Amino acid sequence: MLTTPVCCVGIADHLDEVLDPHGADRRLAVQLARAEALAARRAFCRLRHDETTQTTDGVFRIPLVQGVRLQRMLEALLNPGRPDPIDPVDPETGVRLSAEELRGRALAELVDRIPKGTLPRTGGCDPVVVVTLDLATLLGGLKAARLDTGDVVSPGTARRLAARCGIIPAVLGSSGEVLDLGRKARLFTKKQRLAMNVQQGGVCAVEGCARPAAWADAHHLHQWQHGGRTDLADGVLVCRPHHTYADHPDYRVERLRPGHIRLHRRQ
Ligand SMILES: [Zn+2]
Repeated sequence: MLTTPVCCVGIADHLDEVLDPHGADRRLAVQLARAEALAARRAFCRLRHDETTQTTDGVFRIPLVQGVRLQRMLEALLNPGRPDPIDPVDPETGVRLSAEELRGRALAELVDRIPKGTLPRTGGCDPVVVVTLDLATLLGGLKAARLDTGDVVSPGTARRLAARCGIIPAVLGSSGEVLDLGRKARLFTKKQRLAMNVQQGGVCAVEGCARPAAWADAHHLHQWQHGGRTDLADGVLVCRPHHTYADHPDYRVERLRPGHIRLHRRQ
């Protein structure tokens, strides 16, 4: 059997470059263009949601240029000099996170940061997740809620999601009827957020927290699900970590002055 030794191919290419530099460039350009077209056709993405571990695993292949863009976005989110950096240490264990784990956190944040209205609408709606929970859960009950994928999430997560853009809560009555589907007034307007930002001096409303208000969640002090109104007097911008506590039944919120609150752990 006749085979061409690898070194001969290398020498042949090199000779080509020396004898015909423009031809070699042209061939490389053609080769790359072919590879790019093939890369676009070979793109795929596989996602597997696991409700037991509450994680999504994924494998994907995208063309190199988009892959490098993704890497740059993750690097930007991982910049330790940003005002609200991703913690490189696991708060539970105190262990330093690996580069892969940090990138995973950045990817999750990237998904959360995609602004509403920038993606194509499907069925007349923005790409949203509908979370179905019953009224008792919304009012602080312990029953799990369900995403429109069929996966279940904890009641705490469901209540937090119900206050966030890109998520529509479907609240069910005792006999399973939909009581409320994404009440518009539940969300504060851009102007209201801006006013809160000014009132809070640009940071989270929780005393002593310096995380920027621009990335915070708008929180109803008198909880919306308990009849709270979506007006300025009742809203504060709270960073994501503090929002978890502000909603938690173990914590009580004290109003200090407009736009400023203190969290107390219940005894
Ligand atoms: Zn905060």
